[in-house]
Amino acid sequence: MKRVIAALLCLAFAPVARAADAIPAADRALVREIYEELLEIDTTHSGGSTTAAAEAVAARLRAAGIPDADIVLLGPSPKKGNLVARLRSGGSGGEKPLLLLAHLDVVEAKREDWTVEPFTLLEKDGYFYARGTLDDKAMAAIFTQAVIRMKRESTPLRRDVILALTADEEGGDENGVDWLIREHRGLVDAGLVLNEGGGGRMRSGKYLVNGVQAAEKTYMDYELSVTNKGGHSSLPVKDNAIYRLANGLVRLEKLVFPIELNDVTRAYLERASQMESPEIAKDMRAVAKNPKDAAAVARLTAQASYNAMLRTTCVATELAGGHAPNALPQRATANVNCRILPGHTAAEVQKAIVGMLDDTEIKVVLAEREIAGPKAQLDPAVLAVVEKVSAEVFPGVPVVPMMSSGATDSKYFRLAGISAFGVSGLFVDVDDVRAHGRDERLGVTQFYEGQNFLWLLVQALAAKN
Ligand SMILES: [Zn+2]
Repeated sequence: MKRVIAALLCLAFAPVARAADAIPAADRALVREIYEELLEIDTTHSGGSTTAAAEAVAARLRAAGIPDADIVLLGPSPKKGNLVARLRSGGSGGEKPLLLLAHLDVVEAKREDWTVEPFTLLEKDGYFYARGTLDDKAMAAIFTQAVIRMKRESTPLRRDVILALTADEEGGDENGVDWLIREHRGLVDAGLVLNEGGGGRMRSGKYLVNGVQAAEKTYMDYELSVTNKGGHSSLPVKDNAIYRLANGLVRLEKLVFPIELNDVTRAYLERASQMESPEIAKDMRAVAKNPKDAAAVARLTAQASYNAMLRTTCVATELAGGHAPNALPQRATANVNCRILPGHTAAEVQKAIVGMLDDTEIKVVLAEREIAGPKAQLDPAVLAVVEKVSAEVFPGVPVVPMMSSGATDSKYFRLAGISAFGVSGLFVDVDDVRAHGRDERLGVTQFYEGQNFLWLLVQALAAKN
């Protein structure tokens, strides 16, 4: 109860979303209450539990009148619970369900690194502070509130709406989405998924673009190793594991993958140029039109972010070798981390690495199970709906398709043949991104605008009109 009163008091002073506000005050209060409850449950891998957060949401859904049979709490281990709930359309529509996805787990947060409490919601100077305010408990709270409201209003649906709040997106071995698709496909089988990974970009209060993530690069580590028989370091021999590996790495530094555009990155270059200076904008449009324009490519890829967007990258990230200061090394190893463009395999990249090393004594192995990257696909019908809703809530701000150079859970759905979009309408300053960092925060105005945007988007994608 204390929380409800506090929320209402804050709301009296909260800024009002700029346009097309479809959220009644009571629903703004409710989303804040859910947000606070989720933020204050520790869901880190080390000491927390996503099950506790899933249970809190399940209790709210039950109280809202969603039947027990449509609320499932399940997971591969006690602290890695996932919640899957379903609003039924009554079977009238032929469309496969719309699935609203958010992960419940958060990155570790050490109290001593933060200037505020990481697991207490603090509203200060126009921001919500706590671990997970941005990544990803804003979306978890907003989707939960939307489902509760649709139940309360008996929204007529043309497709089922599934809410999935999951574990181990950030780390841990029990990724909820991967597990649910493999073990309980029926529960999460959908026609379309809305997830994190997109979001708005702003600079000094000016809204630049509303990003829609429609593709992502695949993360892959390769272990390089050289072994020798070793010996006493007073009697060096020509063949030395450390020199051999180091020379291979020097050659590997020159490995540059070709430029390649897909539907998503081409659209980004065409549409996002207004975020950039006129010179860069010109190069973006030039490369979108002709990826063989070597001069424009060279200028653009001098920036790490565009280089990462336009090609597969590999970089040495760890190095180890030897076992004593007075012994010839028996072993030297390096980790090479690659971010692979959609549509390419880890094996192709491995072949390129091996070719560049040009030394069969340097063994190259995949450090983890390969999850082949799905092809980048831009569903124009869904994009059109996002654009329409975005124009209502954020007039004049372009919707821009994006490819992440990191990974989200959308990849599991895309690999299962289910289209997934990263879209949130949550705007963050490009010069102040604190997800995974200290003092994570999200603007109060931006939070409620995101609620409004996602509510209207879910209505447009699932409700009968
Ligand atoms: Zn996240």
